[in-house]
Amino acid sequence: MTATTAPRTMRAALLAEFGRLTLAELPVPQPGPGEVLCRVRACGMCGTDLKIVNGGFAGTWPPSLPFVIGHEWSGVVVAMGPGTERTGLSPGDRVVAENHAGCGACPLCRAGRYNLCERVREPGFKLYGHTAQGALAQYAARPAVATHKLPDSVSDLAGALVNQAALTVHAARRAAVTPGASVAVFGPGLLGLLMQQVARAAGATQVIVVGRGARLDTALELGCSAVVDYERADPVSEIRAMTEGRGVDYVFDCSGNAEVVEQLLRSVRRGGTVAMLGLTGGAVARFPLDPLALDELNLLGVRSSPNAYPATIRLMADGAIDTDPLTRDQFDLDHVGEAFAALESRSAIRPLVLL
Ligand SMILES: [Zn+2]
Ligand SMILES: [Zn+2]
Repeated sequence: MTATTAPRTMRAALLAEFGRLTLAELPVPQPGPGEVLCRVRACGMCGTDLKIVNGGFAGTWPPSLPFVIGHEWSGVVVAMGPGTERTGLSPGDRVVAENHAGCGACPLCRAGRYNLCERVREPGFKLYGHTAQGALAQYAARPAVATHKLPDSVSDLAGALVNQAALTVHAARRAAVTPGASVAVFGPGLLGLLMQQVARAAGATQVIVVGRGARLDTALELGCSAVVDYERADPVSEIRAMTEGRGVDYVFDCSGNAEVVEQLLRSVRRGGTVAMLGLTGGAVARFPLDPLALDELNLLGVRSSPNAYPATIRLMADGAIDTDPLTRDQFDLDHVGEAFAALESRSAIRPLVLL
């Protein structure tokens, strides 16, 4: 390991018992072979973190307590582990890191689909913030291969949103959004508010966001074409009315709500594509099957963000993804409990903890 500027211990938000995070002093991780050590600057908390903290995946995410969560973060490289000389990274680089790099050896990793690594459940496989120590702490060690540099034009706060934005880039690629396309995004949480922008960057010219409340104002502020408040109007008939009765070319579900699957399928045109992002927490959906065949609909699942970080960072640097309205909910580590409460009450689009 090269000379480090890291101290021996660090402050962290610790999950010592399910239900709450407490402040703790922990050893600073040592970067192993192929790893870099980073000083974390900003770390977001998402719905998955909420479920992890409340014990929804206990025994798997995390495998045991105590544990450090956090997988949506940015920071700066402070030390290099053995074998990182030719990674293109060096101390002082501002970076973001993917949650996992895949095993690199299974058929899906070799095909570039490392989000679907076949060995993900084997002991020793690290899914950072889920099965291996996360970044809601002052320092984090990560494989250099999963770490990407940020340009000066992408702030630390914006960097903490790269993880979620990259998921929407992967979704746009998987759905193969075409120039001039029409799109509906269900669920204007952070994911949806990024998805609407990435859909436009991918060429969509009509982007309709379905949701409720103040987040629809944020959707408009971020440049969507129209919004539908599902508490006031039926999303399917509104979307059809805006598309000459045909339905949109693409629907992206960012709501994680199993109840809306039928609406998604009825909002898309014949031959169109419905992409489902994120998890529902084990929910089961009921929906009519015949339209899938009769209208030749494409129904896609989207997981994580393989090979999508570099393009996502370029979209942010280019201004195609505006993160300013999405990074207003900031907390320092001493107030991590309030950040968590803001996540639970949905009063924050994304609570960001500054470390
Ligand atoms: Zn997340
Ligand atoms: Zn693999």
